[in-house]
Amino acid sequence: MDQKIDYSKRAFAYYPTDAIVVSRYVDGKWTAPEVTDNFNLTLNCFAGVFHYAPSCFEGLKAYRGCDGRIRLFRPLENAKRMIRSAAYIDMEAPSEELFMEACMLCVKANIDYLPPYESGASLYLRPTLFGMNPQLGINSPKDVMFVVMSSGVGTYGGGKLLTPTNAVISRNYDRAATHGSGGYKLGANYAQSLHAYNLAHKMGYRELLFLDTATHSRIEEFGSSNFFAIKDGAYITPDSTSVLPSITNMSLRELAPEFGLRVERRVIPVEELASVDEAGSCGTAVVINPLYRIDDKKRLEDTDVVRSFNIGTPEKCGRFSEMLYHRMVGIQKGLEEDTYNWCVFVD
Ligand SMILES: *Cc1c(COP(=O)(O)O)cnc(C)c1O
Repeated sequence: MDQKIDYSKRAFAYYPTDAIVVSRYVDGKWTAPEVTDNFNLTLNCFAGVFHYAPSCFEGLKAYRGCDGRIRLFRPLENAKRMIRSAAYIDMEAPSEELFMEACMLCVKANIDYLPPYESGASLYLRPTLFGMNPQLGINSPKDVMFVVMSSGVGTYGGGKLLTPTNAVISRNYDRAATHGSGGYKLGANYAQSLHAYNLAHKMGYRELLFLDTATHSRIEEFGSSNFFAIKDGAYITPDSTSVLPSITNMSLRELAPEFGLRVERRVIPVEELASVDEAGSCGTAVVINPLYRIDDKKRLEDTDVVRSFNIGTPEKCGRFSEMLYHRMVGIQKGLEEDTYNWCVFVD
């Protein structure tokens, strides 16, 4: 066990661990999950994943609680979502049981890399699923590989928690078509937003907010996290089939009434940003990232800003966002009562 790892300065990034868990769907059935220290998978270069991108993935965290016990946060929801994503591309998926077993095995095999409670870091699990049989014809994969890997991660960006950041609205790059794949966690959704994200970063923005592709008038989500806002005592978040159903967002909607907030899942026109009290992104990596300003431009490449929505201040996170964050993390780390039975113990 390496006691010397300093988790306090870690970003949300890849850090090596000891083992991964692999299972294969071949000849019509899944092999028993195997724990291995060989991270270099051997695949035929004709494997579908290398050209037509039959691939989906998940992301969840294992936390060491204040009581020393290890918790996974709502892993069954990730299992269900992976099954949905795979079904969208007509690919075999592991059962909920196999998914859970592989995640448990992965945490246990890498237990020495589970950051200590005090560090605020966690072991991020990355289950992935992809087509592996050699193919040239355009078909859904016959053989599938399921891998659960992990990385001991800090908070996204490595910055101070709950420090508000800026964002820009994307009008000339879309994330997901109205009747497309946006509601499924596909690798392809990420590949196609890389260029826009790089541009946004180059222009000085931390986040990129995508709109609906049919009208470019409604808020959808960020590249890898959902959008939420607080307005007149309500937690509001977009209702759209091309938004990825975030488990963090779902959990925040369940927690919001504890703080007297109503929950509204509905269409949110861009103009409404002028009247929100708080806004932020939410997802497993950050839980909540507050936003203090959202710029609107004709084109991402432009230096001219058409209008700026100022929400709160760069110095301070809004109070509901902060309360929701602490309640959520409190449950994940065993500091607060898990009234919803969201945590699954690994030990
Ligand atoms: C994974 C993901 C999210 C966040 O989902 P969580 O379950 O909260 O981690 C949001 N948007 C997109 C596009 C995603 O891929």
